[in-house]
Amino acid sequence: MHTLTPVLTDNWDADRSWTIESYEARGGYGALKTALGMSQDDIITAVKDSGLRGRGGAGFPTGMKWGFIPQDNPNPKYLVVNADESEPGTCKDIPLMMASPHTLVEGVIISSYAIRANTAFIYVRGEVLHVIRRLQKAVQDAYLAGHLGKNIHGSGYDLDLVVHAGAGAYICGEETALLDSLEGRRGQPRLRPPFPAVAGLYASPTVVNNVESIASVPSIIANGAEWFSSMGTERSKGYGIFSLSGHVTRPGQYEAPLGITLRTLIDLAGGMREGHELKFWTPGGSSTPLLTAEHLDIPLDFEGVGAAGSMLGTRAIQLFDETTCVVRAVLRWTEFYKHESCGKCTPCREGTWWLVQTLSKIEHGGGTAEGIEADLDQLLDQCDNILGRAFCALGDGATSPISSSIQYFRDEFLEHASNGGCPFDHAASTLFA
Ligand code: NAD
Repeated sequence: MHTLTPVLTDNWDADRSWTIESYEARGGYGALKTALGMSQDDIITAVKDSGLRGRGGAGFPTGMKWGFIPQDNPNPKYLVVNADESEPGTCKDIPLMMASPHTLVEGVIISSYAIRANTAFIYVRGEVLHVIRRLQKAVQDAYLAGHLGKNIHGSGYDLDLVVHAGAGAYICGEETALLDSLEGRRGQPRLRPPFPAVAGLYASPTVVNNVESIASVPSIIANGAEWFSSMGTERSKGYGIFSLSGHVTRPGQYEAPLGITLRTLIDLAGGMREGHELKFWTPGGSSTPLLTAEHLDIPLDFEGVGAAGSMLGTRAIQLFDETTCVVRAVLRWTEFYKHESCGKCTPCREGTWWLVQTLSKIEHGGGTAEGIEADLDQLLDQCDNILGRAFCALGDGATSPISSSIQYFRDEFLEHASNGGCPFDHAASTLFA
């Protein structure tokens, strides 16, 4: 474990870190007791003042989202944790829930108390049975310890927490599709607005937050908003987990202040694999436009990555060296989006199918030197017809790797055409082989 800001990952290497005994021995559930002595509005203010922004990818201010819950609405309020982590490359929430499920459970209780919810859900992807079991055990132990249930620690506050397993669909990570799925329907996105804060689960006010966002709340309550906001950059406060994968010597989770550069992260990870150089990378999963070695020194915060033409997203940094064919990588991701498109809207359902056809033709030798410019125009035109026209962010995300790869590696697409197919030895890359 390499960590520059040992907060979320602080206890990951501890003996049986996932047990309530281990968590409490390190001061766990202390923040809950502090929070129960505070007013709900003071907790919301603390989270607002901390500058915490959503860690699921979009970076919406967490405290502001909580503040949108209309307290005059007579319906119950709900907290739903989005633990449906599925974005290709994204792998921070699952290790967090495995290593320290009680950080999440404590965060859920404090956050639910703040928004006046008496029922909370953790919606976790169905494929990760080991995580579901670990969460269920953590929730059971939290009930037995009096952290959940009726009259929590004599405060008069009641909370029930349900761990709900999804059925393995990428679209169910989209917050409104997740709510449909939780209600027992087929998971498909709803039209927004209304946002879930106003009409979410069972048409009631609902906060949907990512695992890492909620897990960040106990330390904000324990240490104060100023402590949190003293880390990070001007508009991207605090720390986050950066997940490095691919052609790097020591792939893994690196917790660091927002604004760190990829150059520093790669140094921490022991460099690129020996004898090779960085060619391209994703800052936050495959839905964020690709960047290249030119971008090694940009600050990895919402603004810095945005200014470079991409998005911080989930900080899922996938690193590829010069042995990797960008066309093949992008084709593989596009096949994923085509497979996972829920089919509700035409631009995404049909568009991702067309994208796969055109990319596949180029990668597998169907392109010609004369026709490649027209093929690339067609690909970009297909992207244009999806971007901003799809029902949810899935369609937009599918276009990101394509348009950015053409922007930075146009020559490689042309070479595929003149070569009569892919010029790379995929075994050398080992990825996408
Ligand atoms: P968004 O910017 O539309 O919304 C972000 C959050 O803010 C939502 O919870 C939304 O309800 C809330 N919000 C925004 N405007 C609001 C308003 N006016 N009033 C009340 N609430 C408001 O982003 P999104 O479509 O929810 O998510 C897209 C992001 O998801 C992308 O950035 C991508 O990185 C990320 N993503 C993550 C994964 C993963 O596995 N973690 C997978 C795919 C995509």
